[in-house]
Amino acid sequence: MPPREPALTDLARLSPIEFRAFLEGKGIRRFYLVYDPERRRVVASHPELESLAELLQHDTRDFDAHEGVFIQVAPETGMLQGAFVHRTCRGQAAGGVRFWTYDTVEDYLRDGLRLGKGMTQKNALAGLWWGGGKGVMARGTGVDGADPAVRRRVYEEYGEFMTSLRGCYVTAEDVGTGPEDMAAIFSRTRFTTCIPESLGGSGNPSAPTALGVVRGMEAALAHLGLGTLEGKTVAVQGLGHVGEPLVEYLHQRQVRRILGSDIDPERERVLRKRFPDLDLDVRAVPRGDCSLFTEPADILSPNATGAVLGERTISGIAARIVCGAANNQLEDPQQDDLRLKERGILYMPDFLVNRMGIVNCADEQFGTVDRDPAFLRHLGDEWENSIYNLSLRVLKEAEATGRTPHRVAVALADQRSLELHPLWGHRGQEIIRSLTAGGWAG
Ligand code: NAD
Repeated sequence: MPPREPALTDLARLSPIEFRAFLEGKGIRRFYLVYDPERRRVVASHPELESLAELLQHDTRDFDAHEGVFIQVAPETGMLQGAFVHRTCRGQAAGGVRFWTYDTVEDYLRDGLRLGKGMTQKNALAGLWWGGGKGVMARGTGVDGADPAVRRRVYEEYGEFMTSLRGCYVTAEDVGTGPEDMAAIFSRTRFTTCIPESLGGSGNPSAPTALGVVRGMEAALAHLGLGTLEGKTVAVQGLGHVGEPLVEYLHQRQVRRILGSDIDPERERVLRKRFPDLDLDVRAVPRGDCSLFTEPADILSPNATGAVLGERTISGIAARIVCGAANNQLEDPQQDDLRLKERGILYMPDFLVNRMGIVNCADEQFGTVDRDPAFLRHLGDEWENSIYNLSLRVLKEAEATGRTPHRVAVALADQRSLELHPLWGHRGQEIIRSLTAGGWAG
C-alpha cells in the first residue's frame, strides 16, 4: 500500500524527516512563508504549504509579522535548512544558525520564529544596525554523518542557501555549530560572520559574552543596593564556553564561593585544576537537571540551555538575582517573568546581558583594532548604552512602572527595532520582495 498522503492540516505535526519526504514527493526544493504587510497576510510560495502559512497567520505566541521564512531541502545532503527573518528595519537580519533535533515541523518553525525575534531584540538593544533573524537546520533530516567532509558539505550547502537569499539574512555560529562550520559557509557566501581569525574573522566570542553577563550582575546588585560581587556566592549552571570564563571573571572580582553544575563530569576536573584557590563546588548532573537552582546563593546564572525558568523551577530558586547568558531562559515569556517577580527575584533579561557574541560578529566586517573602543564601550560604565548602564535604566523603569524588567526591555527593543537603517532604510524587505517576485521558490 502506498504511504498515506498527509492532509494539509497535518503538515505541522509531521516529523522533519517525514516533511522532507512530503516536499520531495511534491517536487518542492525550496519554499517560503512571507508576510505581506499591505494585506497583513502570510503568503506561502506553494498552495500545498498553505496550512503552514495559516499556522503562522493565526499564531499569537511565536509569530510576530516575521518578514520571511525560507526553507530548503539541501540538494546534496538532504538537510532541512531554514532562515527565519524577523525584522530588517535596522538592517540585515543577523543571528546564528542552530543545528538541533526537532520532533515536529511545528517545533522546528516555532523555534526559528522565537529565536529570530529574540535576535531582533538583542541587536536593537545593543544599538547595532542589524535586524534580527536565525538559521535553523533540523538534525536527522539529511546525512548528518560524523565524517568531517560530509559535515563540511552540509555547511557549504547552507552557504549556498545564504547566497540565494541575497543578504536579507546574515548567519553566524550558534548551538551545535563552530568556527570551522562558519569557514565552510564562508567558502560559499559572504553573508556570514564569526569566521575563524585565520580568515580575518573574530573567532569565538564566549569570553566577552561572559564579561557582559558579569556587568549585568553588577548592575542588578547596584540596583538592589547590595554592593559588589566581592564576597557573594554565585551558582553557575553550565560550565562550557561561557561558563568557564564567567568563573574566571567572578574569581577576579573576589566572589566568596561558586557553585557549579554541568552534565559533562570532565568540566569539574578542568575547573578545579584551573582555579585551585577558589571555593568551587561543582557537581555533575543529568541532562535537564536544575537542582542547582535551590542551592543558597546570591546570584543564579543559567549558562546551559534555554527554557530553564518555568513553573517547575521558579518556586525553588534560592537566589535574589538571576542573570546568565543562556538564550530564551523563560519557558513561557508571558508568565514566567511575573512568577519571578512575585517571588521577589530580580531577573535580568538574557537578551539584555548576553549581547557580546553578536557585537563581536557585527564589528567583524569593519576590521579589527587592538583594544577596540567600539567593542569595549559595551562593557564599560561610560557609554549610556553599555550593558551596565542600559541594565540600570531598564531596572529603574521597571521599578517606577511596576512592570517586570523583561517587559521593559522587550518594549524598548521593539521600539528600537522599528527604527530604519540610516543609510539603507528597509532594504531587507526590498530584498525579500525581489526574491518572491523573482521566483526564488521552486
Ligand atoms: P556550551 O555548549 O559551550 O556550554 C554549555 C554547557 O552547559 C556545556 O558544558 C553543557 O554540558 C552544559 N549543560 C547542558 N545542560 C546542562 C544542565 N542541565 N545543567 C548543567 N549544565 C548543562 O555553550 P556556550 O557557548 O557556553 O553557551 C551557553 C549558553 O549561552 C547557550 O544557551 C548559548 O545559546 C548562550 N549564548 C552563548 C553565547 C556565546 O558567546 N557563546 C552568546 C550568547 C548566548
